[in-house]
Amino acid sequence: MSDIIKAVLDELSKYDVEGVEEVVIVIGDLTNLGEEQLVFAFEVMSQDTVLEGSKLIVEHEKIRLKCKVCDFDGPAEVIMNEGYDHSIPVLSCPRCSGPVNVIKGMECCLRSVKIREGTDV
Ligand SMILES: [Zn+2]
Repeated sequence: MSDIIKAVLDELSKYDVEGVEEVVIVIGDLTNLGEEQLVFAFEVMSQDTVLEGSKLIVEHEKIRLKCKVCDFDGPAEVIMNEGYDHSIPVLSCPRCSGPVNVIKGMECCLRSVKIREGTDV
């Protein structure tokens, strides 16, 4: 998370930015990052920077698998686990239980930043 904020600040330092309205980041479901933790970290780290007072918007990216055996291409099955606050994805093929490549769901990246003047970066 701190890497993302640092990247945003680096990028913004190239421009003459007075303030930021919102920052949109994408979090893959496989990263296990909690939205509340992210928002909290963002608020702490944005203090005394150009990001102070801006809103963090977290978009979730669903997991997508591709089977190495039967060519299945789609979302992962999930196990709802009591005691955990989120479900656990199964990283094998839902069709044939074969090994899979994870195509999506591991991202943790910046999608967009909205500057107060209404200009997109
Ligand atoms: Zn398969």
